[in-house]
Amino acid sequence: MKNLVGTVRCSFSASLWPKAAVLSLLLVAFAGLGAAQKLAITIDDLPQNGALPPGVTRVDITRDTLAVLKKRHVPPVYGFINAKKLEGSVDGAEALKLWTAAEPFGNHTYTHIDLEANTAEAFERDVEQNEPTLELLAKPGSGNSGNDWHWLRYPYLHEGDTVEKRRAVREYLTKRGYKIAQVTLDWEDYMWNSAYARCAAKNDKKSIEWLRTSYLSTASEFLDLGRAQAKLIYGHEINYVLLMHLGAFSSTIMPDALDLLKKKGFKLVTLEEAESDPVYQGDPDIGLHDAGTLLDQMMQLKQIKYPEHVEKPYKDLQSVCQ
Ligand SMILES: [Zn+2]
Repeated sequence: MKNLVGTVRCSFSASLWPKAAVLSLLLVAFAGLGAAQKLAITIDDLPQNGALPPGVTRVDITRDTLAVLKKRHVPPVYGFINAKKLEGSVDGAEALKLWTAAEPFGNHTYTHIDLEANTAEAFERDVEQNEPTLELLAKPGSGNSGNDWHWLRYPYLHEGDTVEKRRAVREYLTKRGYKIAQVTLDWEDYMWNSAYARCAAKNDKKSIEWLRTSYLSTASEFLDLGRAQAKLIYGHEINYVLLMHLGAFSSTIMPDALDLLKKKGFKLVTLEEAESDPVYQGDPDIGLHDAGTLLDQMMQLKQIKYPEHVEKPYKDLQSVCQ
């Protein structure tokens, strides 16, 4: 903080600048410093989440979303792959090649297995079944050689409904060289993907506009909620990891979502940088059912009451354009 303020002072001599201008510059500098919070965007369910509008391919969605990320100079975004979705899908395979040539990628298990419905051993087999594809995509000459794919994102964010299962899988992941790609911010963006595919098929412009406004108001609400949770749990803000999904709505809504993050004062960083925050070394170390993000898990562990917030529009998203 001192450095930046010092720079402002040194660069703009008060004799050349009106006092009011200097004061407002300082205020802007302080406001920026107070709000800037590091956040890494991550994307799950590659090559594709949810339904597609007619005439739109997975390649289209991937290409268009990558173009937005590039245009907006977003730091490398980890995409987490379920290789089973590639079976019999030339479009999916092509889409994945586009992603992995441009952005880093990690393991989301082969079949998107649910650790709450399966044993630790079955989960571990599913992690390993995904590896040959990741290895192939990372090999020299693939466009993204040197990619560190030893990051695991738990499907459904389920880390184990018993403490034994949780510990067994964590121990296994460490031995196998994996880091856990935790999540600390999530507004369940995937719910808008299939809804958008339906509305686009009907060319229902009014509903598509509702999807846009409801997406952004929900995102805003849950960004604020996540930050409030961090303060309640740790007493201060943290580096955040945001969960998103690649689907029909992604490239359409991404520019607005990036604007919102900027408006809220987030500074985009890589997953590695976000997780350099010591809170990501923390482990609630209890069995939990459908507990959500690391922050949600910590809230349960510490039995902290949630701040008031507006819920996501689950029902409306299911029924819109049906
Ligand atoms: Zn997933």
